[in-house]
Amino acid sequence: MAHERKDAVGLARAIAAGESSAEAAVSEALERARGLGARLACFLSLEPDGALARARELDRARADGRALGPLAGVPIAIKANMATEGFETNCASRILAGYRAPYTATFVQRLVDAGAVPIGVTNMDEFAMGSSGENSAFGPAMNPWDETRTPGGSSSGAAAAVAAGIVPIALGSDTGGSVRQPAAFCGIQGFKPTYGRVSRYGLIAFASSLDQVSPFARTVRDLELVMELMSGADPMDSSSLPMGPMRRGPDTVRLDGLRIGLPKEYLPDGLDGRVRGAVEAAAETLRSLGAEVVEVSLPHTDAAIPCYYVVATAEASSNLARFDGVRYGLRVDGDGSLAGMMAATREAGFGPEVKRRILLGTYVLSSGYYDAWYGQAMKVRRLLRRDFDRAFESCDLVLGPTSPTPAFTLGEKTADPLTMYLNDILTAPASLAGLPAISVPGGFALENGTRLPLGLQLVGPPLEDGRVLHAARAFESATSFHSERPPLFA
Ligand code: GLN
Repeated sequence: MAHERKDAVGLARAIAAGESSAEAAVSEALERARGLGARLACFLSLEPDGALARARELDRARADGRALGPLAGVPIAIKANMATEGFETNCASRILAGYRAPYTATFVQRLVDAGAVPIGVTNMDEFAMGSSGENSAFGPAMNPWDETRTPGGSSSGAAAAVAAGIVPIALGSDTGGSVRQPAAFCGIQGFKPTYGRVSRYGLIAFASSLDQVSPFARTVRDLELVMELMSGADPMDSSSLPMGPMRRGPDTVRLDGLRIGLPKEYLPDGLDGRVRGAVEAAAETLRSLGAEVVEVSLPHTDAAIPCYYVVATAEASSNLARFDGVRYGLRVDGDGSLAGMMAATREAGFGPEVKRRILLGTYVLSSGYYDAWYGQAMKVRRLLRRDFDRAFESCDLVLGPTSPTPAFTLGEKTADPLTMYLNDILTAPASLAGLPAISVPGGFALENGTRLPLGLQLVGPPLEDGRVLHAARAFESATSFHSERPPLFA
């Protein structure tokens, strides 16, 4: 049975109905992870023994007539910055190489309680800093649509694993676009919830005021199920919102009365014509579903990248201070003094991009510069949020491209960090404003004879996660981009 063609909901149903078994589904995922997954460098490690044991347990539970959870037997993949007890949680960094998490993150545990079976840990940019996966200390993952290209980043391996049909669901983290941009580059769905909707307990912090655990899937109904299971208050994370789980939108795929805002700043002159065309076609599709399309303005969009790279690096410099050779992972003795050991450990353990950000973040927080940089960025962040608040007075969701281009080639942007940073221009604003946003498959662009996916982004007002997913589900029902598979998939 070709499990890889089913989404998680379909797979769990087939297992519950006895048409398949958890063991068969998990073994097949592991086999594909060892074959296709290795070729694309999707996984940093696999956990076959635990996964198969868990799958057999679920099959026994079914045979005994016990009730199964809604994800029973579904193989899932976990990003390398998420704690799963016993799994190597190294953040794709040398400083944490060999580090095994001593506990399981709340969001992983909630999926496991629903029957999901984590099979391994996916490749990523070191500490989630990057847009291409090329900052992984263990080498980059590849895009299943074209192996010379990036699957996007930082959740590179997770997106590639879902697009290549290895697992139906993978968890990523999105700080400035790290789930939406790889979803766009790989032709799959990627959803960043409202900040605080999903507990961060067990997510290794990069920029705490921006980080959100965010799922990838090939269908929107899978994302809705994962969000229902994973979201909701957690006493272990004081920044998780004191609310119950997300509620999904109505079953209907009509969007009558919904107002979709097209921000003119997201469609500047000079935007790749194929990307613009996909947005215009999507607006038409949404109209045919009953929505009304209106123009809106997000005037501070240009300030999002500088603001993001001040806020994110400031928080990263503080969060990464804990990797000092004393408590976790790598230790290099250096000159034998305590300070020398810390310096030598950090020098050997962190890659160039992480060091660049720690330096930048320390600078913007330093006395004398704090007000000019960090203080200023906080004000700009407020303005970005206000842009959205105003836009949402005249629309219910904002539509735009997820990324200015389709997947770029590996090596294309590594020489110039600024060009790499600019790739986040369309995803960073919703992160800074804390808003729910999804990237949905929205078309294809032909590049030297290769078809590359294009992603479209829908952004909603705070806590309207269900509305964003509902509109995405309606769009999915009216289009077929999401059901196309990379040639490698077969
Ligand atoms: N590309 C952005 C960065 O490098 C976003 C990363 C993320 O969302 N984790 O910071």
